[in-house]
Amino acid sequence: MNIKFKDLGLSKDLLKAISIMGFKETTPIQSKAIPEILKGGDIIGLAATGTGKTAAFGIPAIEKVDVDSKDVQILVLCPTRELAMQVADEMNKFLKFKKESSVLAVYGGQSISRQINALRRKPQIIIGTPGRILDHLERGTLKINKIKMLVLDEADRMLDMGFRKDIKRILSATKKNRQTLLFSATMSREILNLTRSYQKNPKTIKIDSNELNKLSIEQFYLNSEPGYKIDFLMDLINKYDPELSIVFCNTKRKVDKIAKTLKQTGFSAAGIHGDMRQSKRDSIMNRFRKNKIKILVATDVAARGIDVDNVQAVFNFEIPRETDSYIHRIGRTGRAGKSGKAFSFVSKSEKRLFEKIIKYTKSHIKEYSNQKDNFSSRKKIVEKKNNKEKLELNCDGHLEKKANKVLKKVEKNITKHEHAIYLEIAQNFISKKCTHKDLSAALLKILIEEKNNKLFRKYN
Ligand code: ADP
Ligand code: MG
Repeated sequence: MNIKFKDLGLSKDLLKAISIMGFKETTPIQSKAIPEILKGGDIIGLAATGTGKTAAFGIPAIEKVDVDSKDVQILVLCPTRELAMQVADEMNKFLKFKKESSVLAVYGGQSISRQINALRRKPQIIIGTPGRILDHLERGTLKINKIKMLVLDEADRMLDMGFRKDIKRILSATKKNRQTLLFSATMSREILNLTRSYQKNPKTIKIDSNELNKLSIEQFYLNSEPGYKIDFLMDLINKYDPELSIVFCNTKRKVDKIAKTLKQTGFSAAGIHGDMRQSKRDSIMNRFRKNKIKILVATDVAARGIDVDNVQAVFNFEIPRETDSYIHRIGRTGRAGKSGKAFSFVSKSEKRLFEKIIKYTKSHIKEYSNQKDNFSSRKKIVEKKNNKEKLELNCDGHLEKKANKVLKKVEKNITKHEHAIYLEIAQNFISKKCTHKDLSAALLKILIEEKNNKLFRKYN
């Protein structure tokens, strides 16, 4: 029941922009939400990621702006900076032929004075993250007492991220007769509480609860212990050669580690997470959007809601601890009618978590098996490599002990001046090739690690 945008009674300028963006028909959430919002009612819009929720509120929001007024009239709250930027971007495209209205994204990590200057230019639509919006309210650099419409985008995420109190404080600065819209991919009791406190007779618009299976995303899982995951990842990337892909990890440290390993192995990859400077995050996202980085390694928070075309594969390097995160993660692929693949690497300790995800999402997640043979031979190689590493690790445990033995001997040598005839050779080498530290450490390595070395046996 998708309809043509021109049948929604929208203004000419907006229709022109929509058509330039290549939107022909509404998506299901848009066909139901846009007319309701235009009528003025509060709504709860529930639909999977990638189903066009931004336009579902963005299009009617733009129609509501009174261009003769310089007040802030629309406020959209988003959980992350990236999402705020993305929503603002899309709104800007809708405004292509409506130059008298303007949008501003306001988020943390960006220079506050630059934002204050931009706010002086009187944008009528503000898209922001809760923390920074509050900051501006407290400074008096943003006034929202005249807003007609407030949108909570990705409401489930905002609650997960602990923004409930902030939302409450922001809402208390608005007038009671505003229109309040809430959009989310998932519904929870917490969201219901939120809607009860802040909405008036909201109408719930829900697009099929089993939506994941409808998206054109093929979902797979592989049983894999942590030590094998990186090899499976590289194998899959080599095999499918996705134009762009996102690898999700549960922690920032893991993101750094996987990104580094991929880069060192020659893949075009970069990591993104909340501890990085905003400017760095922006530059990585830009390069990813422009296909200059092909593999984005990310935490949930950093990649939330990211909408980039051509993400052909998503990898759950680790299974997310929250079920909703699974939906959000795999929703990064298969966007705008394109198809995508999602692979989850499940270790023994993640099995129960993963079973919960399957049950909750009612997803058809197939075992990745057509390449079993290939993988099992691969597995052997990896096993061998791991055993070798284990051996080395074992050795590492005694490393200091062994080194100390050698160093005692060295000390004795020096006191007795037994090493005298080597001094010149060592000096020559150091003056041309390396530092004292390098030479000593390299000699220690050779003495201790080279198993055929007689000295090694002697000192072992
Ligand atoms: P959501 O917020 O539901 O996760 P988005 O609003 O980010 O989804 O939209 C996903 C993608 O679909 C975006 O690239 C958007 O431009 C595109 N899109 C949205 N509506 C339409 C439409 N009616 N026709 C074609 N593409 C659309
Ligand atoms: Mg969205």
